[in-house]
Amino acid sequence: MNWISNYVRPKINSLFSRREVPENLWSKCPECGTMLFHRELKDNLNVCTNCSHHMALTPRDRFETLFDGGIFTEVAVPDTVADPLHFRDQKKYPDRLKAAQKKTGETEAMLVAEGEMGRTPIVAAAQDFTFMGGSMGMYVGNAIIAAAERAVELKRPLILFSAAGGARMQEGILSLMQMPRTTVAVEMLREAGLPYIVVLTHPTTGGVTASYAMLGDVQIAEPNALICFAGPRVIEQTIREKLPEGFQRAEYLLDHGMLDRVTHRKDLRDELITITRMMLGLPPAVMGDLPAPVAEAGETPEPAAATHPEDEAKPGA
Ligand SMILES: [Zn+2]
Repeated sequence: MNWISNYVRPKINSLFSRREVPENLWSKCPECGTMLFHRELKDNLNVCTNCSHHMALTPRDRFETLFDGGIFTEVAVPDTVADPLHFRDQKKYPDRLKAAQKKTGETEAMLVAEGEMGRTPIVAAAQDFTFMGGSMGMYVGNAIIAAAERAVELKRPLILFSAAGGARMQEGILSLMQMPRTTVAVEMLREAGLPYIVVLTHPTTGGVTASYAMLGDVQIAEPNALICFAGPRVIEQTIREKLPEGFQRAEYLLDHGMLDRVTHRKDLRDELITITRMMLGLPPAVMGDLPAPVAEAGETPEPAAATHPEDEAKPGA
């Protein structure tokens, strides 16, 4: 028995555990195929260091880089009716939800938070593409309404990061009803005279582009993000024609007047601060790290003493 538990079992365990390590530490860029080290990728905000492809960023990671010092408070989102249609494809809808919750560690496909960005108080909402393709169901609708209500209550601008494959088919017509619901939520901000800024990330498609994602006062997109209602493959098959290069990508939409800006992720925060403060009529934020405040004369005995090391040496001698 000892031989089995002391020698054989560790041997078997080490055989399996060794293989898992490289997969967790390295990820492959879906655009150019470069292997990227996880720490390097995180430092670069999930943007490929080789081809600048903007990979999905979870709402939590996004908020950590958006808010001052990575500090934010989550805004509560009302719960929804679970599985109203008793939908089932290969798997039951509640099982799919549970699997997505386990994978992402989040309750649903959208996270709402409040905090300060460049000392500017804001409310932000971000859609999670890793959670069932960021699909818009009742919860996402509730989240956007909660975000808009909170923004109106606090008189703050709302910044929304979109990423979605469209409506959530498991909720059928109820998911489509989120299009008018969220449109009304955006209208609430307009009536309150508060800025609503949308950042479209790769990919933002379907019902999401037919509602709240295209209703911003300012429309910003990340480079090369796919933004469309029906995808290019569907259109190509329907009209049986080759589509132009870069069709439905951020840069193409900017050229054709659908967007205001296409901004690299590393510049996004500064740009959002500038735009938000401008829209609120606030003075520009002070950029860069400030030097430590200079103490007034007569208040600093310690540094003066330190310049004479021989004085400090005397008592010990
Ligand atoms: Zn790449």
